[in-house]
Amino acid sequence: MFAARAGADAKTNGVYCGASMIQNAKWNAAAYPWAAQIRDQVTAAAQPWLKFTDDELWDLMFGHTISRSWMVLSNGHCPACERDVPMYTWEMDALARPWKVRCPHCKELFPKNDFRPRRARRL
Ligand SMILES: [Zn+2]
Repeated sequence: MFAARAGADAKTNGVYCGASMIQNAKWNAAAYPWAAQIRDQVTAAAQPWLKFTDDELWDLMFGHTISRSWMVLSNGHCPACERDVPMYTWEMDALARPWKVRCPHCKELFPKNDFRPRRARRL
C-alpha cells in the first residue's frame, strides 16, 4: 500500500497530525460514539485513495511550473452558460472526473482539452 521512502527525505512523523493527536483520536473513537462515527466516515472516504500507489498519488499533483489557473476563470463565470461561478463552487471529483472541473449550473466540463496526457509530459 504505502511504502516508506528510503533515504534522508523519508517521513517519520505526520506533519498535520502528530502522534499525540492521533492517539487522542483513537481514544476518543473508542470512548465516544460521535468520535467513532467520525472515524468511520473518514475511513470510508479514504478507501478509494488506498488503491493508488504512492507514485500514482504523486502523479495527481501538478507542479508549480503550470502556467494556467487550476480553476476555470477562478472567481468569475462559466464560459459555456455564462452564469456566475464564484471561487470554489466549481464541482470537482478527482476519482470520477480526473483533471476536470464541472460547472455547477450547466454541468459543462473544463478544461476542454485532455489534460491527462499533457500531465504525463510532466507539466
Ligand atoms: Zn455553466
